[in-house]
Amino acid sequence: MGVMHIPGHEHQGPREVSLDEIRAVLGDCRLCELCQTRTNIVFGVGNPHARVLFVGEAPGRNEDLQGEPFVGRAGENLNGILALAGLRREDIYIANVLKCRPPGNRDPKPDEVLACSPFLREQIRSIWPDIIVTLGNPATHFVLKTEIGITRLRGRFHQMGHFVVMPTFHPAAALRNPKWQELLEADFRMLGDYLMRHPAGTAPAVAESAGGAPAEHLPQVGE
Ligand code: URA
Repeated sequence: MGVMHIPGHEHQGPREVSLDEIRAVLGDCRLCELCQTRTNIVFGVGNPHARVLFVGEAPGRNEDLQGEPFVGRAGENLNGILALAGLRREDIYIANVLKCRPPGNRDPKPDEVLACSPFLREQIRSIWPDIIVTLGNPATHFVLKTEIGITRLRGRFHQMGHFVVMPTFHPAAALRNPKWQELLEADFRMLGDYLMRHPAGTAPAVAESAGGAPAEHLPQVGE
């Protein structure tokens, strides 16, 4: 994982840097053109010691206005299905690949992902969760370093260095497709089952496929 310079730290280790320190480095970011059209930077929100980190794509209109991720319809969908995994919103942390809204909710551009993703990488390093749930293709492609589509990757866990990664459909996309919503909910139940079988602090979380076979092993996040 590439390491960003955070004042007061040299080659920071897992959980060494606080989220506030990362937010301070982000400041009033001007690294890409999205700074010209955003209302608020949407850094991320939730439990800084979360076992499960959710990663979305980019803020939408409501998130841009309120400065918080997943507060619009996608967020309502997410809140509704968290219970399927035995989770509450206050248990988890949520961040996006991009911290600023792309105009009209267009797809993130590669140069925007390049400029912004070091902040997500540092958030991952700071929280050091057991499990990263990637919501939709851009988040999945960034975390798993693949171009394979979400429909082929979902439904199982992937090992990415220290982290178990569960790719699934984006809750906004699932709202438009009942079949995807069904599969999204199935994935959340699979996550709940995994969390129950691997209670916090008892054993290292290691990815396994639904049948218990070893999952794919992939390189470190951000490599
Ligand atoms: N969609 C995302 O990917 N992230 C948000 O914060 C809101 C909608």
